[in-house]
Amino acid sequence: MRAIVIGSGVAGLTAAAYLARDGHQVTVYEQFAEIGGVTATLKREGFAWDLGPLVVEGIGPGEPAGEILAELGVADQLRLERGDRGMAFPDFCIQRPDEYGGPYWRREYLKELFPGESQGLDRYYQFYDRMLDLVSLSHRAERAGGPAALLLKVRLGLLFNKVKRMKDWSAEQVVDHFFKRKELQALYTAILADLVVQPSQCPGLLVPVLNPETATDRRIPTQTRVGVRPGFHYVLGGCEKLVEALASAVRAGGGQIQTRARVQQILVERGRVTGVLLEGGRREPADLVVASGGAQEAFFGLVGREHLPADFAAKVDDVPFMESVMMVHLGIDFDPTPYQPGPLCYYYNSYDIEAGIGRCLQGEYHEGRDGFLIYVPSLHSPEMAPPGHHAVTVYTIAPNHLPEGTWTERRDEMADKLLAEAEKIVPGLRERARVKVVLTPQDFRVRTLQEHHSFGGAAPLMGKSGAPYRAPIRGLWFVGSQSEGGAGVTNTIVGAWKAARMIRRMGKL
Ligand SMILES: Cc1cc2nc3c(=O)[nH]c(=O)nc-3n(C[C@H](O)[C@H](O)[C@H](O)COP(=O)(O)OP(=O)(O)OC[C@H]3O[C@@H](n4cnc5c(N)ncnc54)[C@H](O)[C@@H]3O)c2cc1C
Repeated sequence: MRAIVIGSGVAGLTAAAYLARDGHQVTVYEQFAEIGGVTATLKREGFAWDLGPLVVEGIGPGEPAGEILAELGVADQLRLERGDRGMAFPDFCIQRPDEYGGPYWRREYLKELFPGESQGLDRYYQFYDRMLDLVSLSHRAERAGGPAALLLKVRLGLLFNKVKRMKDWSAEQVVDHFFKRKELQALYTAILADLVVQPSQCPGLLVPVLNPETATDRRIPTQTRVGVRPGFHYVLGGCEKLVEALASAVRAGGGQIQTRARVQQILVERGRVTGVLLEGGRREPADLVVASGGAQEAFFGLVGREHLPADFAAKVDDVPFMESVMMVHLGIDFDPTPYQPGPLCYYYNSYDIEAGIGRCLQGEYHEGRDGFLIYVPSLHSPEMAPPGHHAVTVYTIAPNHLPEGTWTERRDEMADKLLAEAEKIVPGLRERARVKVVLTPQDFRVRTLQEHHSFGGAAPLMGKSGAPYRAPIRGLWFVGSQSEGGAGVTNTIVGAWKAARMIRRMGKL
């Protein structure tokens, strides 16, 4: 069949690679001048920074996205290094210790800091192990076939019974259940700030899943007796290497990728897709269209509500968004490791995660005061900065629109305010920056063509999900971070793989 894929982020490229492998004639259309979407790497004057992902979950060997890269024959194009992140709060800091203390060193360290929480910590880590085992088993069940899959599903069911009573709890209820102190409640919900989801709105069972211990210490083994737990990796040389690897799989299957090619309309006749209309007026026929990017942009902007059943349109209306990010990339001429020893650390200036996220959701921008992260990719990839220099990224969550003025008008002011906060950690960032690139939510909207930039994708909110892979129009599919597979690099790669598998299976019917 002739297949058109809209968007060259990791989702579009994965779907395109599988469709090409399955023998379809594939063209990817990307509106921007470069491929990669938010997984691209930005370069200026000898420095390189990633636009999006930092330490990527699940792309290592045997992990969900890693298996897909291997299946596509491109895993060996990537150089990966196990990575981890530090977390700093107003009164304590969690940083990988010099000497490895085993997979549960954090639990023991927290008991020393908060002795009154020892029992809660033990109970939390029992719950944690169950949830992470569930994740490992469901990954195995997804891939297995026949009786093996059945057996795994039985094991999944038995294990799920042990956590079932919490299935309708929010993340807030879960941390309140295990911990009394605000410090620990904040520690295990702080990552939700990254997703711009309030703990009271996030499914509680996600708490351990979003806080895998492997993210805090790269020495923690990912292989357990139940299966593989997610590992975290830096993509050496920048995330564009991942994009290049996926693009090479598309091309190896005979697929084409066209940049500066914006799809303006998905053409539909009598309930089935017939092709796309490109900006400039060219019509391209197709039997299959796989869209990625914003769900509302794809279904309402490109297809049109009039072609969609009301219940499906309501689902698309209901896709939960995150907010955007305010990001400053710097090229500095000094070594930042005396202030931040590893490539990545998250700094939280408040324990009230619920209120901070609530303010962001209401359009209030904290200007860096509530927290931010500092990422120094040149510490793991020296080629991302000239010798003696470092590439540094500082960013924080930010609403799509400012209450006063626009991001474009206030870009320099907001960059300066964010850097002033970051300089409390790494002094001299502004004075010793040789290069500075600022990306505001407005820039991300242009880069992704989203009306409302949702930086990770569909937000994990209770009772909600991204748009279904399969649209109620024959030949139309939807993948990516706003699809039912959820947000993040691995989810979008795995989701695109699943959608391609559904297309293949339907073709065989
Ligand atoms: C700052 C930041 C940090 C992140 N950190 C992490 C992290 O640490 N770990 C992690 O796993 N994930 C992270 N993410 C999220 C992750 O990067 C995304 O969920 C994932 O990359 C989304 O991929 P995608 O292919 O769905 O979308 P995108 O990368 O947005 O790609 C969609 C593409 O479609 C194109 N497009 C849209 N409409 C059209 C059209 N009409 N015609 C042609 N082209 C079109 C866009 O230009 C874009 O290139 C981060 C994201 C950001 C922004």
